[in-house]
Amino acid sequence: MKFQNIGFIGLGLIGGSVAKAIRRVYSDVIITGYNRNRDVLKEAVHDGTVTVAADESLAAFASCDIIFLCVPVVTALRFMDRLAAIRKPGSILSDVGSVKGDIHRYAEEHGMGSFFIGGHPMAGSEKTGYANASDRLVENAWYILTPANGVPQEKVDDLKEMLDGIGALPLVMDYREHDMVTAAISHLPHVISASLVNLVHDEDGPEEHMKMIAAGGFRDITRISSSSPQMWQEICLSNPDNICSMLDRYIAKLLDYRQAIGARDADELLKIFTECKDYRDSFGTRAGSVAREYRIYLDLIDEAGSIATVATILAVNSISIKNIGIVHNREFEQGVLRILFYNEDSMDRAIDLLAGRGYIIYHD
Ligand code: NAD
Repeated sequence: MKFQNIGFIGLGLIGGSVAKAIRRVYSDVIITGYNRNRDVLKEAVHDGTVTVAADESLAAFASCDIIFLCVPVVTALRFMDRLAAIRKPGSILSDVGSVKGDIHRYAEEHGMGSFFIGGHPMAGSEKTGYANASDRLVENAWYILTPANGVPQEKVDDLKEMLDGIGALPLVMDYREHDMVTAAISHLPHVISASLVNLVHDEDGPEEHMKMIAAGGFRDITRISSSSPQMWQEICLSNPDNICSMLDRYIAKLLDYRQAIGARDADELLKIFTECKDYRDSFGTRAGSVAREYRIYLDLIDEAGSIATVATILAVNSISIKNIGIVHNREFEQGVLRILFYNEDSMDRAIDLLAGRGYIIYHD
């Protein structure tokens, strides 16, 4: 691993999680940290994650081989010039922001095109702050890298190697493509989820029957609406063109569907639902996916011993578990049990067994 001194500005959910993961895997590296809230910094030193607590001068970051900006997107821009001025020659500046356009344009306009590598770990939670950071948050999560044009390939490879080491799945992309892709698969779904939840809120009667019986599908498709309102406000303000463009296409699609439903067009309706099922079912077995894992998620009854019960059901049926634990992320914000298996056969047998016992199971 090429980076011996790794800097973090912002030790919240994402910065804290990446720093903790690095500390778990690369125990000897120096981690230099700075956070506006000094108590967080003290805690990170105390738990062994941060080696050097930097002060507001940021002078300590002059020794870093790579610096991660892990503060809100707008705040990150305010650190760029100061870090560029003190950085060690050959070092890398990176970030973790959910939108990449503004920070890339800033980096290129301010002469940072040879050392800025944008980053976006596709992992998160509705919770924020260091207290909720986990050294496993980015494990098995896509970690998109958007190197500026002048960054030497070996530097990109060094960063990929480090991210591989902490179990993330690095994926290099142009920053413009990143903002278009995430508008479609992340930002638009949040807008749609918000509109669905607010629609039900507006249309529900005084007895709130819609809210009361909202179950299964509605809860799944709107789970992400519990995320931080400020973060999603910031994302919409940072990526408006891509989101509006996807929204326009989505509205056109909705009008097509409305037409098919209004016209009672049975063939068209079957075509719509068949096409979406086929495409959705293909997600888990995408050719070339390095993320092929045999994993399932299940809703747990919140009571003592419920994890042990599941583990026992699998054990008595001779199904080996590779890993088991509760996860909180954007998709499962209330927390679900994730179980990893060694092979597809074990996973399929576990699904049959657990579904047969009434567990609600999600899998890719
Ligand atoms: P967070 O609120 O948990 O952490 C932000 C941290 O930055 C806090 O520790 C805060 O004290 C610190 N901070 C804020 N302003 C500062 C300043 N001026 N100086 C020093 N420290 C400052 O937020 P987060 O979820 O970790 O988000 C950070 C970045 O990660 C954002 O850019 C966000 O777009 C991106 N991101 C978030 C998620 C997610 O789901 N939360 C996922 C991927 C990327």
